[in-house]
Amino acid sequence: MKLIMLGAPGAGKGTQAEILSKKLGVPTISTGNILRAAVKAGTPIGLKAKSFMDAGALVPDDVIIGIIAEALHGPECESGYILDGVPRTIPQAEAMEQQGVEIDCALDIEVDDDTIVERMAGRRTCVACGASFHVVNNPPKQEGVCDMCGQALTIRKDDAPETVKARLETYHTQTEPLLAFYRERGKLRTVENQPTIEATTAEIYKALGI
Ligand code: AMP
Repeated sequence: MKLIMLGAPGAGKGTQAEILSKKLGVPTISTGNILRAAVKAGTPIGLKAKSFMDAGALVPDDVIIGIIAEALHGPECESGYILDGVPRTIPQAEAMEQQGVEIDCALDIEVDDDTIVERMAGRRTCVACGASFHVVNNPPKQEGVCDMCGQALTIRKDDAPETVKARLETYHTQTEPLLAFYRERGKLRTVENQPTIEATTAEIYKALGI
């Protein structure tokens, strides 16, 4: 299965991608996680990306296209992958097509903006592995500690309310056109956000026929 997760920031792409990754036995590639690791490590890509990320803007397409070309190259991606947070612009999607990146399905999780703003306020993210939790909807077993790797959970800098608003605007202007892009190619599946993670997962399984 070669899948793209679409949807606004905070729609639950990362959470559902992890669940799907386990069910389907294919890796998740999250450009957000790759970029945060690069920022933390102070690599040239991290230094270039940081100011865009802090402002809730998109990192330039050429940086992302380079990351994706490298990430999909590995043998672990041969049987499939789940792309979380990429492509986010039409030029990124076109570049992926030109590189021969195959896609079976683009899955869009629809959530209204007010729910997103509320949800981001409670999000907690692991500093080490990038796993995402929510203080109410998806709490870790032990407060402030990642269930996956035991490292500390923090509030992402770009989850601050003003930055979330900027990220939503960026989503509507630059990423939403991808819905039409994949619809035209017959690849788009849309699911409505549900009150719980499990209920949204069930809708996704139905939409994918798995
Ligand atoms: P995410 O964790 O997917 O919400 O991504 C966090 C931030 O990383 C975004 O707000 C962007 O600044 C940057 N980013 C992640 N993926 C992309 C992408 N495909 N294109 C441009 N910027 C990205």
